[in-house]
Amino acid sequence: MDAVPYENELTFETHRENDTVDEFHQYYGEAVERVRGELGASHPLWIDGESVDADDHFSVTNPGDHDETIGEFAAGTPAAVDRAVEAAADAFQQWRTASVAERTEVFRAAVAELRTRKFELAATVSLENGKNRTEAMADVDEAIDFLQFYSRELERNDGYEFDTGEPTPGQHCTNVLRPYGVFGVVAPFNFPLAILAGMTTGPVIAGNTAVVKPASATPLIAHKFVEALTEAGLPDGVVNLVTGSGSAVGQPLVEHDDVAGVVFTGSREVGRAIERTFRELGKRGPVVAELGGKNPVIVTADADLEKAVSGVAMGAFSFSGQKCSATSRVYVHEDVIEQFTADLVAYAESLTIGPAEAAETVVSPVVDGSAVERYTDICEQAAAVGTVRTGGELVDDPDLPDGHYLRPTVVTDVPHEHALAREEHFLPFVTIHPVADLEEGLERANDSDYGLCAGLFSETEAEIETWLDRIESGMCYVNRAQSATTGALVQAQPFGGWKASGTTGKFAGGYWYLPQFVREQSRTRVTPARE
Ligand code: NAP
Ligand code: MG
Repeated sequence: MDAVPYENELTFETHRENDTVDEFHQYYGEAVERVRGELGASHPLWIDGESVDADDHFSVTNPGDHDETIGEFAAGTPAAVDRAVEAAADAFQQWRTASVAERTEVFRAAVAELRTRKFELAATVSLENGKNRTEAMADVDEAIDFLQFYSRELERNDGYEFDTGEPTPGQHCTNVLRPYGVFGVVAPFNFPLAILAGMTTGPVIAGNTAVVKPASATPLIAHKFVEALTEAGLPDGVVNLVTGSGSAVGQPLVEHDDVAGVVFTGSREVGRAIERTFRELGKRGPVVAELGGKNPVIVTADADLEKAVSGVAMGAFSFSGQKCSATSRVYVHEDVIEQFTADLVAYAESLTIGPAEAAETVVSPVVDGSAVERYTDICEQAAAVGTVRTGGELVDDPDLPDGHYLRPTVVTDVPHEHALAREEHFLPFVTIHPVADLEEGLERANDSDYGLCAGLFSETEAEIETWLDRIESGMCYVNRAQSATTGALVQAQPFGGWKASGTTGKFAGGYWYLPQFVREQSRTRVTPARE
């Protein structure tokens, strides 16, 4: 296949290259003020191009400052899901006939809208889910990339219609990929714009319609995405937004008779339950699920330790480890483990912890109280079975607002078999383990149910080749100081998991993503004798 040029949106990078980082911070700061001025409003559901209120509401607060209310949101119910699915099913009858040009035009108009509102959207992500400035902007950039890339892919593949010619005289064949109907889109809190936008755009640009359920922690940014689609001219009912809980909205959506397929990103537990439910109900459509990770990094004897330390620190502690791609276990050659650990501890202690919107913040607050409880629990376990080298406690700083601030935590002496080294925690928490050689590192790295991301630090070509050949992982990064396992770009680094980390083996932001939302039809026409 010919190389397809990259067109990634790299807002912060671009400012850095143009020496306009000050402007970046100025625009972002102004946007935070504007967004703050609008917080606290009430947000109904969005069904069939109309606001629909609910009897009950839930409120969302800033994870970095509990005194700041993000908004009040309609608590969807199974009845609201019914209504939204019905709207989506009606809208499908028209939308499925929209041409490639009509569909891409809407999504490109949405890109223009998202670009115009870029700083406002990044500020919203920071305040609502606690992601720092540059990472919140990267979330917005990734969303734009998904819309752009899927538009280009739809065009490049001619809407997935192939003329397969005349196998025998008089018979003319075409092969087309056709949409299923209504998709349920169930999104996580941690990339509340990028993942939600990517998972909505995939099925919808392929001709399906959707009912979208955002994570309960991040409904405001979901509203802003759906607003952008509406502004862009997406017909009523094609994308409907139902906020509310996993049990009152997510579950009935998955179970609904008229929901033909589901696209989900989130925990393994919920993803598996969704897949099981879907199959038990006898549904045949796709369940495209991206699940968790327990992402291993190997540091070999001749690794460049400076790269390895910064790569592991950023992989483990950026967004406080709340990424499915976060680095969570590190297998270090026994000759260098002491130095590596000491340097990592020093690096972790140098990272500025603070509110997401503050310019200097690297480690931002975690999303909610249950994350804080999980942190306290695993840090207690780590102290009991291993050694907590740094962190292990909540931040107690009178200068910080009342929020969920945790210390980056580095732990050693935990057996590889222990749950701390095997289960996903989704927190700023990493375990370090000694290995005798690359072979042992590979065995331990692969001894996991998960297979999402993995990193290697080695300066030996043969080791790199061996690792790339044998590591069981969807995404593989060698010697990446910027982050050992996180930070994939759409198209360049398609994102998905092997083993229990995903259900399809096809990756978001990759060339095989869109065909998952359509089914094949082969059409044969016997050519008439006469026109
Ligand atoms: P989560 O708890 O699994 O929730 C994901 C979504 O599912 C939320 O919208 C949630 O709603 C909903 N949900 C909960 N129970 C449900 C049910 N019974 N039926 C239908 N929907 C239900 O995940 P999260 O805490 O938001 O995100 C963290 C997880 O996502 C981690 O495991 C992480 O590894 C994974 N993740 C994976 C990728 C990837 O690409 N592989 C990317 C990002 C995140 P509520 O919010 O209302 O509970
Ligand atoms: Mg959750």
